[in-house]
Amino acid sequence: MFRKILIANRGEIAVRIMRSCREMGIDTVMVYSTADSNALHVQLASEAYCIGGPLPKDSYLNMQAILTVALETGCEAIHPGYGLLSENADFANMVEEVGLKFIGPCGATIDALGDKANARRLMIEADVPVPPGSDGILPNAEVAIELAEKAGYPVLIKAAAGGGGRGMRRIDNAEQMIAMFNEATLEAQNAFGDGSLYLEKLIENPKHIEFQILADQQGNVIHLGDRDCSWQRRRQKVIEETPCTRLSDQLRNEMGEAAIRAIKAVEYEGAGTVEFVLDKNNKFYFIEVNTRIQVEHPITEMVTGIDIVREQIRIASGASLPITQSEMQIRGHAIECRINAEKPSDNFRPSPGKIKNYIMPGGRSVRIDSAIYPGYEISPYYDSMIAKIIVHGNNRSHAIRRMRRCLEELIIDGVDTNAGLLYVSLFEQSMIRGTYDTSTLESSLDDLLEYETIFHLPDSAELNPEEDNELVLPEER
Ligand code: ADP
Ligand code: ADP
Ligand code: MG
Repeated sequence: MFRKILIANRGEIAVRIMRSCREMGIDTVMVYSTADSNALHVQLASEAYCIGGPLPKDSYLNMQAILTVALETGCEAIHPGYGLLSENADFANMVEEVGLKFIGPCGATIDALGDKANARRLMIEADVPVPPGSDGILPNAEVAIELAEKAGYPVLIKAAAGGGGRGMRRIDNAEQMIAMFNEATLEAQNAFGDGSLYLEKLIENPKHIEFQILADQQGNVIHLGDRDCSWQRRRQKVIEETPCTRLSDQLRNEMGEAAIRAIKAVEYEGAGTVEFVLDKNNKFYFIEVNTRIQVEHPITEMVTGIDIVREQIRIASGASLPITQSEMQIRGHAIECRINAEKPSDNFRPSPGKIKNYIMPGGRSVRIDSAIYPGYEISPYYDSMIAKIIVHGNNRSHAIRRMRRCLEELIIDGVDTNAGLLYVSLFEQSMIRGTYDTSTLESSLDDLLEYETIFHLPDSAELNPEEDNELVLPEER
């Protein structure tokens, strides 16, 4: 096992990774930017080094500086977290070239899956269903129109290098395609340094269902169940839950097996997520693989009892998976809410500033992953997500009630947050029934924001009364 690991990230995920390391007896080294000298990941670290200015390119994306710190402090491995360098194949290769271990799959695999058009091709070969669409990169708008007519409008043109919900456009007809194609290419070029586009049929009002995967160096691959991440705004996840109510055991098994086939299509090691959209008729289609730890991984930890970061580190050090697929058990239900420093009523304008005070919820089966503290100044340079509230319950009703209770306890003074919107969301009819899809939050946003302002709750369906008295033990693992 490693004795010392460098964590090449910041915020809640840097803290979360450090926690697993400490529990494993592994020393950690943190890096930070000049804007982050008071950040929690630095305060909690036993060793931390400033590597550059506030802009990510000057610090958290400065590969040379990060490698220098890792080598000089005697680290044996680097954990990249999510975002930043986590899906950068060049970085993964450089880490290995200087004789350190990159905690994640190898550069070639990150490349093969990170090019989303190439990933589509690999999935077709591996017999994993994909939405109808292009075979690789679109050469021009004319070819895009031909393919769109074959697949049927509406379609999405998507940046092959895209991520974080960006670099995608809905196209409803050929005229729009001509107008949008160059614009989308330019936008992708600016955002990702690569203007390549591919095309997929737009699956209307789907659920976003993803599977958490673990793969060891011995070639064993298992999945840890599904996550329903359909409560989205601008194609970014806001509330996630597991298990998804829509999936029968049979469909869950089928999708889980497809996810494992997807991972086995490449040489994979570590944690990963295979993302699908599920249409109204319960047909599922692959959309992408994220070759890293994901923001919403804690809900899977809640229902499986497995520490996914710990497993990432064990796998990187050569250990085999701790369980087989048939030993994997899901208990109860878990939900995550992402708390962002933003003002929903002002078009979700980011709200950086000083946290004057806060009270985080607590109690049974509640987990807070956060990197704020009273007096902490939220920097405008980075992501607006400041905390994740994760709850576990005996069943779905129980988990929803518990999350409502947590949001009632939560107080954050000094910056605006989306907590009120999250709270009213947990009373929305399709949320209560579990029938919501990726369009629901946006289409009900005006109503939800109004409820939030007048502090009144939507006429809500009852939670399942039978579940209220159900007891599934043990609740916590
Ligand atoms: P998830 O939230 O499911 O883990 P996301 O795709 O939202 O996955 O990415 C997690 C984090 O990484 C977010 O902070 C997101 O903004 C960032 N991110 C992901 N891909 C990119 C990318 N290509 N460019 C910039 N940021 C990205
Ligand atoms: P990113 O890399 O930005 O996470 P994804 O390909 O995972 O991009 O898509 C992000 C979101 O966009 C999905 O969660 C889903 O809501 C929507 N989406 C992507 N592809 C499709 C599709 N073919 N049909 C319908 N919705 C889609
Ligand atoms: Mg995605």
